[in-house]
Amino acid sequence: METKPTDVSDDGATPAEPVLPLRARQMLPPKGACWYCEKPLDSVRRFCGKVCADAFDEEAQFCR
Ligand SMILES: [Zn+2]
Repeated sequence: METKPTDVSDDGATPAEPVLPLRARQMLPPKGACWYCEKPLDSVRRFCGKVCADAFDEEAQFCR
């Protein structure tokens, strides 16, 4: 079994530099409710609307 010493980037190009992480919201799994306001949603959506998604992103950025 091999162990990777470091994290090799998938495309072989840009290493370590943390590319602006995908918007925080895009890494979230849908949970059946809006991540921001907890409003119930269908199972594939994370936010009830752009307003909530943007608001969530802003908060995520401030927390970094
Ligand atoms: Zn919402």
